[in-house]
Amino acid sequence: MALLPRVCSASWRRAARAFLGLPLPAPARAPRALSRAMAGTQKPQPHCPPPAAACYDYLVIGGGSGGLASARRAAELGARAAVVESHKLGGTCVNVGCVPKKVMWNTAVHSEFMHDHVDYGFQSCEGKFNWRVIKEKRDAYVSRLNTIYQNNLTKSNIEFIHGHAAFTNDPKPTVEVNGKKYTAPHILIATGGVPSSPHESQIPGASLGITSDGFFQLEELPSFNCFTFKMGIKIVLRSFDSIISTNCTEELENAGVEVLKFSQVCSHDWFYNHKLGVYSIGDVCGKALLTPVAIAAGRKLAHRLFECKEDSKLDYDNIPTVVFSHPPIGTVGLTEDEAICKYGKENVKTYSTTFTPMYHAVTRRKTKCVMKMVCANKEEK
Ligand SMILES: Cc1cc2nc3c(=O)[nH]c(=O)nc-3n(C[C@H](O)[C@H](O)[C@H](O)COP(=O)(O)OP(=O)(O)OC[C@H]3O[C@@H](n4cnc5c(N)ncnc54)[C@H](O)[C@@H]3O)c2cc1C
Repeated sequence: MALLPRVCSASWRRAARAFLGLPLPAPARAPRALSRAMAGTQKPQPHCPPPAAACYDYLVIGGGSGGLASARRAAELGARAAVVESHKLGGTCVNVGCVPKKVMWNTAVHSEFMHDHVDYGFQSCEGKFNWRVIKEKRDAYVSRLNTIYQNNLTKSNIEFIHGHAAFTNDPKPTVEVNGKKYTAPHILIATGGVPSSPHESQIPGASLGITSDGFFQLEELPSFNCFTFKMGIKIVLRSFDSIISTNCTEELENAGVEVLKFSQVCSHDWFYNHKLGVYSIGDVCGKALLTPVAIAAGRKLAHRLFECKEDSKLDYDNIPTVVFSHPPIGTVGLTEDEAICKYGKENVKTYSTTFTPMYHAVTRRKTKCVMKMVCANKEEK
Protein backbone atom coordinates (compact mmCIF):
# COMPACT_ATOMS: atom_id res chain seq x y z
CA MET A 1 0.00 0.00 0.00
CA ALA A 2 1.43 3.37 -0.87
CA LEU A 3 0.58 6.52 1.02
CA LEU A 4 0.88 9.10 -1.66
CA PRO A 5 2.07 12.68 -1.09
CA ARG A 6 -0.01 15.83 -1.26
CA VAL A 7 0.96 18.64 -3.58
CA CYS A 8 -0.01 22.25 -3.84
CA SER A 9 -3.29 22.90 -5.56
CA ALA A 10 -2.26 23.96 -9.03
CA SER A 11 -5.78 25.01 -9.93
CA TRP A 12 -5.70 27.82 -7.43
CA ARG A 13 -2.33 28.98 -8.52
CA ARG A 14 -3.69 29.08 -12.06
CA ALA A 15 -6.70 31.02 -10.85
CA ALA A 16 -4.42 33.37 -8.97
CA ARG A 17 -2.15 33.89 -11.95
CA ALA A 18 -5.15 34.60 -14.13
CA PHE A 19 -5.70 37.59 -11.93
CA LEU A 20 -2.42 39.08 -12.90
CA GLY A 21 -3.69 39.31 -16.47
CA LEU A 22 -6.62 41.51 -15.50
CA PRO A 23 -6.46 45.29 -15.83
CA LEU A 24 -5.34 46.81 -12.56
CA PRO A 25 -8.15 48.46 -10.62
CA ALA A 26 -7.62 51.57 -8.50
CA PRO A 27 -5.17 50.78 -5.72
CA ALA A 28 -6.77 49.01 -2.79
CA ARG A 29 -7.20 50.93 0.43
CA ALA A 30 -3.78 51.56 1.85
CA PRO A 31 -3.06 49.67 5.06
CA ARG A 32 -1.94 52.89 6.68
CA ALA A 33 -5.32 54.58 6.07
CA LEU A 34 -7.11 51.56 7.47
CA SER A 35 -4.87 51.53 10.49
CA ARG A 36 -5.65 55.19 11.17
CA ALA A 37 -9.34 54.45 10.93
CA MET A 38 -8.90 51.68 13.44
CA ALA A 39 -7.01 53.84 15.88
CA GLY A 40 -10.20 55.86 16.35
CA THR A 41 -13.35 54.73 18.08
CA GLN A 42 -15.29 54.28 14.85
CA LYS A 43 -15.88 50.78 13.52
CA PRO A 44 -14.09 50.43 10.16
CA GLN A 45 -16.39 50.59 7.17
CA PRO A 46 -15.50 48.66 4.03
CA HIS A 47 -14.30 51.13 1.37
CA CYS A 48 -16.04 49.50 -1.57
CA PRO A 49 -18.27 50.93 -4.25
CA PRO A 50 -21.87 49.83 -3.86
CA PRO A 51 -21.68 46.69 -6.03
CA ALA A 52 -23.94 43.70 -6.22
CA ALA A 53 -21.30 41.86 -4.22
CA ALA A 54 -21.28 41.70 -0.42
CA CYS A 55 -18.23 43.59 0.79
CA TYR A 56 -15.80 43.01 3.68
CA ASP A 57 -12.44 44.39 4.76
CA TYR A 58 -10.93 40.96 4.44
CA LEU A 59 -12.19 37.95 2.50
CA VAL A 60 -10.42 34.68 3.23
CA ILE A 61 -10.84 31.70 0.90
CA GLY A 62 -10.12 28.51 2.83
CA GLY A 63 -11.03 27.77 6.44
CA GLY A 64 -7.88 25.77 7.23
CA SER A 65 -4.96 26.50 9.55
CA GLY A 66 -3.69 29.57 7.70
CA GLY A 67 -7.00 31.09 6.62
CA LEU A 68 -8.65 30.85 10.04
CA ALA A 69 -5.61 32.20 11.87
CA SER A 70 -5.34 35.12 9.48
CA ALA A 71 -9.06 35.96 9.61
CA ARG A 72 -9.14 35.82 13.41
CA ARG A 73 -6.06 38.01 13.78
CA ALA A 74 -7.51 40.50 11.25
CA ALA A 75 -10.78 40.56 13.23
CA GLU A 76 -8.84 41.20 16.45
CA LEU A 77 -7.26 44.16 14.67
CA GLY A 78 -10.72 45.52 13.84
CA ALA A 79 -11.25 44.24 10.30
CA ARG A 80 -14.64 42.96 9.13
CA ALA A 81 -13.70 39.51 7.92
CA ALA A 82 -15.40 36.58 6.21
CA VAL A 83 -14.15 33.04 5.61
CA VAL A 84 -15.28 30.88 2.69
CA GLU A 85 -14.88 27.13 3.21
CA SER A 86 -16.14 24.43 0.89
CA HIS A 87 -15.68 21.47 3.22
CA LYS A 88 -15.14 21.28 6.97
CA LEU A 89 -13.66 24.05 9.08
CA GLY A 90 -10.11 23.34 10.23
CA GLY A 91 -8.84 22.29 6.80
CA THR A 92 -6.29 19.58 6.20
CA CYS A 93 -4.65 19.64 9.63
CA VAL A 94 -7.82 19.03 11.61
CA ASN A 95 -9.72 16.78 9.20
CA VAL A 96 -7.19 14.74 7.22
CA GLY A 97 -3.76 15.83 8.48
CA CYS A 98 -1.92 16.48 11.75
CA VAL A 99 -4.77 15.59 14.10
CA PRO A 100 -5.96 12.18 12.78
CA LYS A 101 -2.36 11.39 11.83
CA LYS A 102 -1.17 11.95 15.42
CA VAL A 103 -3.98 9.75 16.77
CA MET A 104 -2.94 6.96 14.39
CA TRP A 105 0.74 7.45 15.20
CA ASN A 106 -0.06 7.10 18.91
CA THR A 107 -1.99 3.94 18.04
CA ALA A 108 1.07 2.60 16.24
CA VAL A 109 3.28 3.46 19.24
CA HIS A 110 1.08 1.19 21.38
CA SER A 111 1.54 -1.58 18.86
CA GLU A 112 5.31 -1.01 18.79
CA PHE A 113 5.70 -1.11 22.57
CA MET A 114 3.72 -4.35 22.78
CA HIS A 115 6.75 -6.07 21.24
CA ASP A 116 8.66 -5.21 24.41
CA HIS A 117 6.03 -6.08 27.04
CA VAL A 118 7.54 -9.49 27.84
CA ASP A 119 11.03 -7.99 28.14
CA TYR A 120 9.61 -5.49 30.62
CA GLY A 121 8.12 -8.28 32.76
CA PHE A 122 4.55 -8.43 31.51
CA GLN A 123 3.49 -12.07 31.21
CA SER A 124 1.27 -11.78 28.17
CA CYS A 125 -0.12 -9.20 25.91
CA GLU A 126 -3.35 -10.03 24.14
CA GLY A 127 -2.68 -7.57 21.37
CA LYS A 128 -6.14 -7.82 19.84
CA PHE A 129 -6.77 -4.62 18.02
CA ASN A 130 -10.13 -3.15 17.05
CA TRP A 131 -9.71 -0.57 14.30
CA ARG A 132 -13.30 0.67 14.61
CA VAL A 133 -12.77 1.74 18.25
CA ILE A 134 -9.99 4.15 17.41
CA LYS A 135 -11.59 5.25 14.11
CA GLU A 136 -14.83 6.22 15.88
CA LYS A 137 -13.00 8.02 18.70
CA ARG A 138 -10.79 9.83 16.19
CA ASP A 139 -13.76 10.92 14.07
CA ALA A 140 -15.59 12.14 17.20
CA TYR A 141 -12.54 14.19 18.25
CA VAL A 142 -12.28 15.75 14.78
CA SER A 143 -16.01 16.62 14.90
CA ARG A 144 -15.51 18.31 18.29
CA LEU A 145 -12.70 20.36 16.79
CA ASN A 146 -14.92 21.35 13.81
CA THR A 147 -17.47 22.72 16.29
CA ILE A 148 -14.80 24.57 18.28
CA TYR A 149 -13.54 26.23 15.07
CA GLN A 150 -17.11 27.24 14.17
CA ASN A 151 -17.61 28.72 17.67
CA ASN A 152 -14.32 30.61 17.42
CA LEU A 153 -15.49 32.26 14.19
CA THR A 154 -18.78 33.25 15.80
CA LYS A 155 -16.99 34.68 18.87
CA SER A 156 -14.70 36.70 16.62
CA ASN A 157 -17.65 38.06 14.58
CA ILE A 158 -16.28 36.51 11.42
CA GLU A 159 -18.85 35.58 8.82
CA PHE A 160 -18.67 31.96 7.71
CA ILE A 161 -19.67 31.37 4.10
CA HIS A 162 -20.08 27.68 3.36
CA GLY A 163 -19.39 26.81 -0.27
CA HIS A 164 -16.81 26.70 -3.02
CA ALA A 165 -15.34 30.09 -3.97
CA ALA A 166 -14.48 30.82 -7.59
CA PHE A 167 -13.08 34.09 -8.92
CA THR A 168 -15.33 35.98 -11.31
CA ASN A 169 -14.45 38.17 -14.28
CA ASP A 170 -15.42 41.39 -12.49
CA PRO A 171 -12.88 44.19 -12.87
CA LYS A 172 -12.32 44.18 -9.10
CA PRO A 173 -11.25 40.91 -7.49
CA THR A 174 -14.51 39.20 -6.59
CA VAL A 175 -15.47 35.65 -5.78
CA GLU A 176 -18.73 33.81 -6.26
CA VAL A 177 -20.04 31.27 -3.77
CA ASN A 178 -23.37 29.49 -4.31
CA GLY A 179 -24.37 32.12 -6.88
CA LYS A 180 -23.64 35.10 -4.58
CA LYS A 181 -20.77 37.52 -5.08
CA TYR A 182 -18.31 38.66 -2.38
CA THR A 183 -15.48 41.14 -2.54
CA ALA A 184 -12.98 42.94 -0.31
CA PRO A 185 -10.01 45.27 -0.69
CA HIS A 186 -7.92 42.35 0.61
CA ILE A 187 -8.60 38.77 -0.48
CA LEU A 188 -6.55 35.89 0.86
CA ILE A 189 -6.16 32.60 -0.99
CA ALA A 190 -5.46 29.97 1.70
CA THR A 191 -6.80 26.96 -0.13
CA GLY A 192 -4.14 24.45 0.91
CA GLY A 193 -3.29 21.39 -1.18
CA VAL A 194 -4.84 18.21 -2.44
CA PRO A 195 -3.37 14.72 -2.56
CA SER A 196 -1.79 13.71 -5.84
CA SER A 197 -1.23 10.20 -7.10
CA PRO A 198 2.02 9.49 -8.90
CA HIS A 199 2.04 7.63 -12.18
CA GLU A 200 2.94 3.93 -12.38
CA SER A 201 6.19 4.92 -14.10
CA GLN A 202 7.24 6.93 -11.03
CA ILE A 203 6.27 4.33 -8.43
CA PRO A 204 5.42 0.87 -9.76
CA GLY A 205 2.16 -0.24 -8.15
CA ALA A 206 1.03 3.36 -7.53
CA SER A 207 -2.43 2.62 -8.88
CA LEU A 208 -2.88 0.13 -6.03
CA GLY A 209 -2.19 2.82 -3.46
CA ILE A 210 -4.37 5.20 -1.53
CA THR A 211 -3.62 8.71 -0.37
CA SER A 212 -3.63 9.78 3.27
CA ASP A 213 -7.19 11.08 2.75
CA GLY A 214 -8.22 7.56 1.72
CA PHE A 215 -6.37 6.06 4.68
CA PHE A 216 -8.43 8.12 7.14
CA GLN A 217 -11.64 6.85 5.53
CA LEU A 218 -10.78 3.16 6.00
CA GLU A 219 -13.52 1.53 8.05
CA GLU A 220 -11.48 -1.62 8.63
CA LEU A 221 -7.81 -2.31 9.17
CA PRO A 222 -6.50 -3.57 5.81
CA SER A 223 -5.31 -7.13 5.87
CA PHE A 224 -1.56 -6.59 6.19
CA ASN A 225 -0.72 -10.30 6.13
CA CYS A 226 -2.06 -10.96 2.71
CA PHE A 227 -1.42 -7.58 1.16
CA THR A 228 1.17 -5.31 2.63
CA PHE A 229 4.02 -7.62 3.35
CA LYS A 230 3.74 -9.42 0.08
CA MET A 231 3.51 -6.24 -1.93
CA GLY A 232 5.75 -4.22 0.37
CA ILE A 233 4.82 -0.85 1.80
CA LYS A 234 6.32 1.89 -0.32
CA ILE A 235 7.44 4.90 1.65
CA VAL A 236 8.45 8.10 -0.05
CA LEU A 237 11.05 10.09 1.87
CA ARG A 238 11.74 13.66 0.99
CA SER A 239 15.28 15.02 1.18
CA PHE A 240 16.76 14.91 4.67
CA ASP A 241 20.31 14.98 5.94
CA SER A 242 21.98 11.73 4.87
CA ILE A 243 22.37 10.54 8.49
CA ILE A 244 18.63 10.82 9.02
CA SER A 245 17.47 9.22 5.80
CA THR A 246 20.00 6.38 6.19
CA ASN A 247 18.87 5.57 9.73
CA CYS A 248 15.19 5.93 8.89
CA THR A 249 15.62 3.71 5.83
CA GLU A 250 17.38 1.06 7.95
CA GLU A 251 14.66 1.10 10.61
CA LEU A 252 11.90 0.88 8.02
CA GLU A 253 13.63 -1.93 6.15
CA ASN A 254 14.12 -3.81 9.44
CA ALA A 255 10.35 -3.60 9.82
CA GLY A 256 9.85 -5.09 6.34
CA VAL A 257 9.09 -1.83 4.57
CA GLU A 258 10.45 -1.14 1.11
CA VAL A 259 11.75 2.42 0.82
CA LEU A 260 11.86 4.32 -2.45
CA LYS A 261 13.98 7.46 -2.55
CA PHE A 262 12.08 10.28 -4.13
CA SER A 263 12.42 14.03 -3.85
CA GLN A 264 9.35 16.14 -4.21
CA VAL A 265 10.11 19.26 -6.16
CA CYS A 266 7.81 22.11 -5.36
CA SER A 267 7.95 25.43 -7.08
CA HIS A 268 8.26 28.52 -4.94
CA ASP A 269 6.36 30.89 -7.19
CA TRP A 270 3.82 31.85 -4.58
CA PHE A 271 1.42 34.53 -5.47
CA TYR A 272 1.23 37.92 -3.94
CA ASN A 273 -0.16 41.02 -5.57
CA HIS A 274 -0.57 43.96 -3.28
CA LYS A 275 -1.96 46.23 -5.99
CA LEU A 276 -4.81 43.84 -6.66
CA GLY A 277 -5.18 43.12 -2.96
CA VAL A 278 -4.96 39.35 -3.52
CA TYR A 279 -2.54 37.31 -1.41
CA SER A 280 -1.79 33.67 -0.69
CA ILE A 281 -0.32 31.87 2.31
CA GLY A 282 0.06 28.31 3.53
CA ASP A 283 0.28 25.07 1.58
CA VAL A 284 -1.06 26.61 -1.62
CA CYS A 285 2.31 28.42 -1.86
CA GLY A 286 4.19 25.10 -1.85
CA LYS A 287 6.77 26.15 0.72
CA ALA A 288 7.28 24.56 4.17
CA LEU A 289 3.96 22.72 4.21
CA LEU A 290 3.28 22.83 7.95
CA THR A 291 0.41 24.07 10.09
CA PRO A 292 2.43 26.44 12.31
CA VAL A 293 3.95 27.94 9.14
CA ALA A 294 0.51 28.57 7.62
CA ILE A 295 -0.74 30.03 10.92
CA ALA A 296 2.28 32.29 11.37
CA ALA A 297 2.18 33.49 7.75
CA GLY A 298 -1.56 34.20 8.05
CA ARG A 299 -1.12 36.20 11.24
CA LYS A 300 1.87 38.11 9.85
CA LEU A 301 -0.18 39.06 6.80
CA ALA A 302 -3.05 40.30 8.99
CA HIS A 303 -0.61 42.56 10.89
CA ARG A 304 0.79 43.87 7.62
CA LEU A 305 -2.64 44.65 6.19
CA PHE A 306 -4.53 45.86 9.23
CA GLU A 307 -1.88 47.19 11.57
CA CYS A 308 0.32 48.91 9.04
CA LYS A 309 3.33 46.69 9.83
CA GLU A 310 5.06 46.75 6.46
CA ASP A 311 7.83 44.37 7.49
CA SER A 312 5.50 41.79 9.01
CA LYS A 313 6.67 38.79 6.97
CA LEU A 314 7.44 35.20 7.84
CA ASP A 315 11.07 34.15 8.10
CA TYR A 316 11.29 30.75 6.42
CA ASP A 317 14.77 29.96 7.78
CA ASN A 318 15.19 27.43 10.56
CA ILE A 319 11.69 26.00 10.66
CA PRO A 320 11.80 22.89 12.85
CA THR A 321 9.99 19.85 11.51
CA VAL A 322 9.14 16.38 12.77
CA VAL A 323 8.46 13.17 10.89
CA PHE A 324 6.21 10.80 12.79
CA SER A 325 8.14 7.71 11.81
CA HIS A 326 9.24 4.96 14.21
CA PRO A 327 11.56 6.18 15.64
CA PRO A 328 10.49 9.78 15.05
CA ILE A 329 12.73 12.28 13.27
CA GLY A 330 13.26 15.92 14.19
CA THR A 331 15.24 18.45 12.18
CA VAL A 332 15.92 22.15 12.09
CA GLY A 333 18.27 24.21 9.92
CA LEU A 334 20.42 23.19 6.98
CA THR A 335 21.40 19.65 6.07
CA GLU A 336 25.16 19.03 5.79
CA ASP A 337 24.97 19.18 1.99
CA GLU A 338 23.05 22.47 2.08
CA ALA A 339 25.52 23.95 4.58
CA ILE A 340 28.47 22.96 2.36
CA CYS A 341 26.72 24.49 -0.60
CA LYS A 342 26.13 27.73 1.32
CA TYR A 343 29.36 28.12 3.33
CA GLY A 344 31.92 25.93 1.47
CA LYS A 345 33.22 22.55 2.65
CA GLU A 346 36.16 24.08 4.55
CA ASN A 347 33.81 26.17 6.70
CA VAL A 348 31.47 23.40 7.74
CA LYS A 349 32.09 21.12 10.72
CA THR A 350 29.79 18.34 11.86
CA TYR A 351 29.37 16.51 15.16
CA SER A 352 27.50 13.24 15.13
CA THR A 353 26.74 10.37 17.47
CA THR A 354 24.86 7.07 17.36
CA PHE A 355 23.68 5.08 20.37
CA THR A 356 21.05 2.62 21.50
CA PRO A 357 18.51 4.41 23.69
CA MET A 358 18.37 3.21 27.33
CA TYR A 359 14.81 2.03 26.70
CA HIS A 360 16.36 -0.90 24.81
CA ALA A 361 18.81 -1.85 27.61
CA VAL A 362 16.38 -4.64 28.62
CA THR A 363 14.72 -5.43 25.30
CA ARG A 364 15.71 -7.88 22.59
CA ARG A 365 14.37 -5.48 19.98
CA LYS A 366 16.79 -2.62 19.33
CA THR A 367 16.53 0.71 17.56
CA LYS A 368 19.23 3.31 17.10
CA CYS A 369 19.25 6.97 17.98
CA VAL A 370 21.36 9.11 15.65
CA MET A 371 22.15 12.79 16.01
CA LYS A 372 24.04 15.24 13.88
CA MET A 373 24.88 18.88 14.46
CA VAL A 374 26.02 20.87 11.43
CA CYS A 375 28.05 24.00 12.29
CA ALA A 376 29.30 26.76 10.06
CA ASN A 377 32.23 29.15 10.23
CA LYS A 378 34.59 29.88 13.16
CA GLU A 379 31.77 30.56 15.61
CA GLU A 380 30.39 27.09 14.74
CA LYS A 381 26.84 28.41 14.62
C1 LIG B 1 -1.48 13.38 6.52
C2 LIG B 1 -0.98 14.76 6.88
C3 LIG B 1 -0.36 14.95 8.10
C4 LIG B 1 0.13 16.20 8.46
N1 LIG B 1 0.73 16.35 9.68
C5 LIG B 1 1.21 17.56 10.03
C6 LIG B 1 1.84 17.74 11.31
O1 LIG B 1 1.95 16.83 12.11
N2 LIG B 1 2.29 18.98 11.60
C7 LIG B 1 2.17 20.04 10.74
O2 LIG B 1 2.61 21.13 11.07
N3 LIG B 1 1.59 19.88 9.52
C8 LIG B 1 1.10 18.68 9.15
N4 LIG B 1 0.49 18.53 7.93
C9 LIG B 1 0.41 19.68 7.02
C10 LIG B 1 -0.72 20.63 7.43
O3 LIG B 1 -1.94 19.92 7.50
C11 LIG B 1 -0.81 21.75 6.41
O4 LIG B 1 0.46 22.34 6.28
C12 LIG B 1 -1.80 22.82 6.83
O5 LIG B 1 -3.08 22.28 7.02
C13 LIG B 1 -1.85 23.91 5.75
O6 LIG B 1 -2.81 24.86 6.09
P1 LIG B 1 -3.49 25.76 4.95
O7 LIG B 1 -4.33 26.76 5.67
O8 LIG B 1 -2.48 26.24 3.99
O9 LIG B 1 -4.43 24.77 4.11
P2 LIG B 1 -5.54 23.76 4.59
O10 LIG B 1 -5.47 23.46 6.03
O11 LIG B 1 -5.43 22.61 3.64
O12 LIG B 1 -6.90 24.52 4.35
C14 LIG B 1 -7.35 24.86 3.07
C15 LIG B 1 -8.87 24.89 3.09
O13 LIG B 1 -9.32 25.54 1.92
C16 LIG B 1 -10.53 24.92 1.49
N5 LIG B 1 -10.70 25.27 0.09
C17 LIG B 1 -9.91 24.91 -0.96
N6 LIG B 1 -10.37 25.47 -2.09
C18 LIG B 1 -11.48 26.18 -1.74
C19 LIG B 1 -12.41 26.98 -2.47
N7 LIG B 1 -12.26 27.19 -3.79
N8 LIG B 1 -13.43 27.56 -1.81
C20 LIG B 1 -13.58 27.38 -0.48
N9 LIG B 1 -12.74 26.64 0.27
C21 LIG B 1 -11.70 26.05 -0.36
C22 LIG B 1 -10.25 23.44 1.76
O14 LIG B 1 -11.48 22.73 1.85
C23 LIG B 1 -9.50 23.50 3.07
O15 LIG B 1 -10.36 23.35 4.18
C24 LIG B 1 -0.02 17.29 7.55
C25 LIG B 1 -0.66 17.10 6.31
C26 LIG B 1 -1.12 15.86 5.98
C27 LIG B 1 -1.79 15.65 4.65
